[in-house]
Order: sequence, then structure tokens, then C-alpha cells
Amino acid sequence: MTDSLDIYLNTVNQGDPERIGVAMHRLMAELYPICRSITGEGVRETLRILQRLIPLEIHEVPTGTPVFDWTVPKEWNIRDAYILDGQGKRVVDFKKSNLHVISYSQPVHKKMSLDELRKHLVSLPEHPDWIPYRTSYYNENWGFCLSHRQLEAMHDDEYEVCIDSSLTDGHLTYGEYLIQGQSQDEILISCHICHPSLCNDNLSGIALATQLAAQLASQGKPRYSYRFLFIPGTIGSITWLALNEAQAGRIRHGLVVTCVGDGGQFTYKQSRRGDAEIDRAAIHVLKHSGAAWTMQEFFPYGYDERQYCSPGFDLPVGCLMRSPHGSFPEYHTSADNLDFVRPEFLEETLHRYLDVVEILEHNRTYINLNPKCEPQLGKRGLYQAIGGDSEAAKKQLAMLWVLNLSDGKHSLLDIAAKAACQFGIIRSVAEVLVQHGLLREFVEV
Ligand code: ZN
Repeated sequence: MTDSLDIYLNTVNQGDPERIGVAMHRLMAELYPICRSITGEGVRETLRILQRLIPLEIHEVPTGTPVFDWTVPKEWNIRDAYILDGQGKRVVDFKKSNLHVISYSQPVHKKMSLDELRKHLVSLPEHPDWIPYRTSYYNENWGFCLSHRQLEAMHDDEYEVCIDSSLTDGHLTYGEYLIQGQSQDEILISCHICHPSLCNDNLSGIALATQLAAQLASQGKPRYSYRFLFIPGTIGSITWLALNEAQAGRIRHGLVVTCVGDGGQFTYKQSRRGDAEIDRAAIHVLKHSGAAWTMQEFFPYGYDERQYCSPGFDLPVGCLMRSPHGSFPEYHTSADNLDFVRPEFLEETLHRYLDVVEILEHNRTYINLNPKCEPQLGKRGLYQAIGGDSEAAKKQLAMLWVLNLSDGKHSLLDIAAKAACQFGIIRSVAEVLVQHGLLREFVEV
């Protein structure tokens, strides 16, 4: 076992909050060099590393499998790629960065002039030291990405280009882990696993989802079942939905995990429904976090929420992230590296996810058993029950809100929103009121 995994597992086992961010970052560092794409060995290797941390099931779906309007593509693998100048020097080398090759490039091995080669080169003049990330999944092509400085250093010469790749019938690979809860109703946590050496988009999502899974699995049987998907973007969620259409309706709440390790403020992208419980839970957490945040209404672009929220499914799946894709210059470039994501940001995001889970696990609806005028709280010992601490006034008011709105139509989360009070306080006073015979859970039949 490697050092980083040792630290990771110890951290998970000891629940040391200070080191969880470091452990997630170390997991990212271990996955960073692997060349992933939407199919291929890089995805398998990544999932095998995650299997040492959580008992992921690895699924293989054959090339050519029809999945709704799409088809599982050929499997892409790459061993090496380079551009040699006239003196035989490697001026671009895949072994130095896997971003140098456009993902899904067809194999090529030939000599050509710089003018011919230019049609196959991509650089970023506005960030001359960064290598861009490009893909060519669904049209046959080949090409190299390089820093603008590398491009400027190239001159008229005969270049030898080689991409030692293969595009063959194979499989689409994805990972799935179900934590069985008390209910068959599910919470979906989905992240994409198809990017090569890029950190915020997408290794941060992989590390956070893995940590969240490990933590939830160690805490006894939850109320909901939790389904974790580690899938290639777009084609992976389409494939999963096509193969699991019958059970997709069990998903009661869901989050797509991406861009969770940068220092930007939190962003929540609503589900297509906009007012689903997951939307209200995530907004509640951000509102009470004490930090700046923004909300985006659903739009049919972005990550796999596009597929989960397609009209034929319309699942309540939002996206809880920090800086959204495309909003930071490092996005889809070599600058989205291990320095751009920090342990403390990963850890802070993990806490937001755990706060959302806490709400979903405990959000219930109650009936006030003494609805005609307020019950006399003093007589029933309720002032003592909530204690005389600095929170006492807040808790008393919370109690009045819970009593007033517990009519079978308002959940604790609805009440917390109306009362502008933290969910945890509303939940704790509801528990006291249940113990004192003033509330009972409302169960819809
Ligand atoms: Zn991306």
C-alpha cells in the first residue's frame, strides 16, 4: 500500500478532521498522472485505486451498445506520443504531460512540415505557459496541445509526429457503489472520471465523492440508500440511465460533484425542478454557512445533471460546487493542477456536502397534537428541556415556529426557511416536542 493510501485510510478510520482535506489532496496526487478519457485503461486504473478505499463495483459496457440516442463508443488507449524536430529532439512529449494529446486522437505516425502540422496544434496565446485540454470524442481526428511558448520555439523544419494510440471495440467502464440504507429511496452522488491530469475539474469531485462514501459507510445504516457513480461525463450518465431506467425513479435527491477544490465561493446549480428538496436543502446550507455564495438556475449545459434532468427523467439532481466550469482561467488547462486545489477548500466543501446530507436524513413532517392555541411551555418543562444557554431565546422562538407550522403540510426544512433559523436548531426542538408528546410524525398514506 502506498503512503498516501495509508494516510487516507488512517484518516478515515480516526475521523481526524484536520487531515481529511490532506488525505483527499493526496488521493488526487496519486490519480493525477493517469491518462483518463471517456473509455480505456486510465479509467480502469483510476477505479482500481478507488476500490482500495471503497468497495466499488466496476461495470464494463461493450462498444456498440445502444444507449437511448447514443452508442457506446470504441475504447481509446494510448501508450506514447511525441513530435520530433529535424534533429530528433522531442519538442512535444506525452510522457511529460498527458494533456499534450487531444483525447481520442487516432493513431498517426508520419513526417510533415510545420505548416501541415499547424492544423493539428492547439495553444493558448493569452496564457503562453499553459497547455490547453482538448477532446475529439465523436469525430475522427488527431492533434497535439502545447504551450504557446513551445509553439513559438518551433520553426520551419521536417517534423516527425507519432501518436501511438488505439481505437478498438472494447468497453465503457464505470464504477458504482451502493450504501444500503433503511429505505430503498436513494440519494445519488455522481462525479465524472474522464479527465486526464486536471484537478478541480475533475479529480476534486472523485476525491470528495470517495471520502463522502467512506464516511457515510462507516456511520451505521442511514435513512436513505446512497448510490455513488464514478462515470465518464455525458456518455457515462446516458449509459447508466439507459441500463437502469426502471430504478432511476428511486432517486429522491441527487448531487453532481465537480469543481470542489478551488478557493472560489460556493455555487449551487438548481435541479430542473428548481424547488426540489435537494435545492432547498443546498440553499439552506449555503445561506447559513456564513460565507458568500451564489445560485444558478438550471440550464441544459454543464455536467451530468443535463442527463439526470432531461425531461424524460427530470430527477431532482443539482450541482454543488465552488467556481463553476469556465469561470476560472485555469479551467481545462494545465494550470488546473495540484496547486490550484487546496486541502482546506476540499475539506470545507466536504462539510457542506455533509450538512446537506444531514438535512436530507432528518427532514420530516410533523403534526401538532395541541393545535388549539399555544401549549403552555413552562408547565410542560419545555423551558428547562431546551436549556438556558445563549441559544435559548432562538430555541424558544424555533419551538413556536415548529408548533405553529406542524400541520402535516410543512417539513422541518420548510419551517427552518420560514423561521430563518438553522435546520439543526429546528430539528433539535422538534425532537424535544416529540418527547413531550406535543408532536407526532406525519406519515402520508
Ligand atoms: Zn471538463
